[in-house]
Amino acid sequence: PSLEHEHLRRKIENGIKEMWYYLRSQLHSLNGDSGSSELKAKVKNILEEGADHQRTLLNDIYNLSVSNDHHAWREKEARELSAIVQRRLHTLQNPRDCSSAKKLVCNMNKGCGYGCQLHHVVYCFIIAYGTQRTFILESRGWRYSPGGWEKIFQPLSDTCIDRQGSSSRSWGSAALIKDVQVVDLPIVDNLNPRPKYLPQTIPSDLAPRIMRLHGNPFVWWVGQFMKYLLRPSNTLSEEIERATSRLGFKGPIVGVHVRRTDKVGTEAAFHSIDEYMMYVEEYYSLLSARQIIDQKRIYLATDDPNLLEETRKKYREYEVISDNDFSRSASLSSRYTENSLHAIVLDIYFLSRSNYLVCTFSSQVCRVAYEIMQSLHPDASGQFKSLDDVYYFGGQHGHNQVVLQSHKARRVEEIDMTVGDKIGIAGNHWNGYSKGKNFRTGRIGLYPSYKVAEDIRIADFPTYPEADS
Ligand code: GDP
Repeated sequence: PSLEHEHLRRKIENGIKEMWYYLRSQLHSLNGDSGSSELKAKVKNILEEGADHQRTLLNDIYNLSVSNDHHAWREKEARELSAIVQRRLHTLQNPRDCSSAKKLVCNMNKGCGYGCQLHHVVYCFIIAYGTQRTFILESRGWRYSPGGWEKIFQPLSDTCIDRQGSSSRSWGSAALIKDVQVVDLPIVDNLNPRPKYLPQTIPSDLAPRIMRLHGNPFVWWVGQFMKYLLRPSNTLSEEIERATSRLGFKGPIVGVHVRRTDKVGTEAAFHSIDEYMMYVEEYYSLLSARQIIDQKRIYLATDDPNLLEETRKKYREYEVISDNDFSRSASLSSRYTENSLHAIVLDIYFLSRSNYLVCTFSSQVCRVAYEIMQSLHPDASGQFKSLDDVYYFGGQHGHNQVVLQSHKARRVEEIDMTVGDKIGIAGNHWNGYSKGKNFRTGRIGLYPSYKVAEDIRIADFPTYPEADS
């Protein structure tokens, strides 16, 4: 399929979803306190019938996506693209002579959780790739694992893991660091200057292929860095195998991540388990048109130790897979220990191996799982429902959308848009509207989400011909 075909197919799929968010939310609003019971019954009926219409359309578009060998092409293209990036990362990380190699150094110990630290590592690795410097990760004394990264994952290099070099300095302009062997990178909040290729940017030499293959090209790109980084040690591999059979993890399964404790009220709102399960139900209704479902299953990962029992009690028709020990080690008091590291690594592993994710993208845990998920399928960009944020990467350049269809504001909350305007998106309200700033007019407000598309950032990175040959 051509790039145009794939764009249009994804646009239609997105349009179906957005139309349903809009209608569902409008119908719910009709159901306010003043509504008569007759109206309520009618609205309920329309909601059910409407949901069925939406499922049919989504399944039609799915069938279209896998027709005509397109599925086979996608599998092959995903394998080839991934192989290119993995070879390049391998080449970058294994220089012929470590003692003279240019290096970029990051320290694991950003003062935050595992997901946040992993994103810090990915940001460093992207800069290493962008500057053609071997990435050195300092992880001794890591709050989750004082013995370091290699206690759980494979080393990032077979030949070059120490920071020794003849000269060193902290990050600076290209001219300043050009002849320096070892460069120390600060956390992204303190980065200056900020290169063009920071998230969410994809490399120009691969951009046409990634954009044709994948519905969210940058997440695919991050997924490739995760794939290289998170190669498990032998011990971890065995642990994963044991856990898979102990828990009886198998598909079809929906990964549900419920982030509570310290996050609620500070960086995210509380969501009841029913909210998550509503989307799980929706996923299974959609899937049941495609295949017979023997048993509905979820993998539940959470930092709330009481949630597993509540969920099992309430949702008896579900098989709820989860690990008790894990939710205990996720609680604030015991979070930064070796045990809790294994717990979160396994939780993220199983979330990423699920067929669909329901979670809050305000949590880095779920965003990591979503990123890893992309390295396991040709395009799983649509296999999630976030109850709050749209996907983002901490420290990213502004997240922009481009207007495809002009819009005249119908209410004071809305903004006007003309084809080609750039909008900085603040969030999708999942009711047909997003909020953002039109850079042409300077106005901030709501706009219909279906009238825009992602404005994908593309920049030149080194192209690594020595790895491709
Ligand atoms: P965020 O705070 O949710 O954005 O994500 P971080 O990963 O940066 O910090 C949260 C930390 O809490 C994680 O790294 C874990 O240590 C712990 N945690 C949160 N949710 C879970 C979970 O579902 N399972 C486990 N095992 N730990 C969790």
